[in-house]
Amino acid sequence: MTHTIRQHQESVTVHVPVGTLYDLVSDVTRTGEWSPVCKSCWWDDEASAGQVGAWFTGRNELPERTWETRSQVVAAEPGREFAWVVGGKYVRWGFTMAPSDAGTILTESWEFLQEGIAMFKEKYGDDADAQIAERTRQALDGIPKTLAAIKKIAESASGPAGDATGFEAAYQAAQKSLAEGGIPIGAAITRGGVVFASGHNDRVQNADPIAHGEMSALRAAGRQKSYRDTTLYTTLAPCAMCAGTIIQFKIPRVVVGEARTFDGELELLRSRGVEVVVLNDQRCVDMMASFQADKPELWAEDIAE
Ligand SMILES: [Zn+2]
Repeated sequence: MTHTIRQHQESVTVHVPVGTLYDLVSDVTRTGEWSPVCKSCWWDDEASAGQVGAWFTGRNELPERTWETRSQVVAAEPGREFAWVVGGKYVRWGFTMAPSDAGTILTESWEFLQEGIAMFKEKYGDDADAQIAERTRQALDGIPKTLAAIKKIAESASGPAGDATGFEAAYQAAQKSLAEGGIPIGAAITRGGVVFASGHNDRVQNADPIAHGEMSALRAAGRQKSYRDTTLYTTLAPCAMCAGTIIQFKIPRVVVGEARTFDGELELLRSRGVEVVVLNDQRCVDMMASFQADKPELWAEDIAE
């Protein structure tokens, strides 16, 4: 074995924000959901979970054997890198993530460290090279499978299927406003698939011309240190004011119910790197079309026409 590969990395684009992806891959207790070898995993000490220096144990299963390994976290920088070393010195595994226009470029890396090679030589003697080659083969075979599984899990959690909860909250807020005699536009904000704020257009109810649905939801959210791991849902395409706020607050992803009755500023958002998803939801189209037909003056007032 003169040309043994001892390090390798591959990348995949995942359509979720870096923060969401970091939260997922740094939760080692979920490793069994994506690893082809590790079937369950737990922190040795819950108090230090996720931190540099923390140890965790993984139960690995292959057809021919089952074994456990302990690993130590060596990098835990939210939104950038999560890495660990098996046995504290033998093999380094890690995920790095970088924001891209489409979400996040996730890279998984693997490196057989010198101490690991030495340990194998001591443990396996003449068979060490074959054992190292077999571990290498498993790593190279497993990395693309792991990345594909993480991509699927992450995108289904906050992608189109996972958008149902946030979008429904926005729609219900719009319906509430309609029932109050207001303008039926609603918005909601999620983090990790959980709605933490919602609101609706308050022009009529509070005589507040700035309180568009998105602005009301952002006000309801209060102070946030960061919006980079959030998704904003709105029943109608955002206007210039709301699009500007989304850009200002660096909200990475906006899901829009419809952009037919009002086309808004979707291109402005996209030009600034915001991922925009338009659902073309018929309920939203019907809701706005009937409102615009019933109260054309109120609608004209809201969009300043
Ligand atoms: Zn607006």
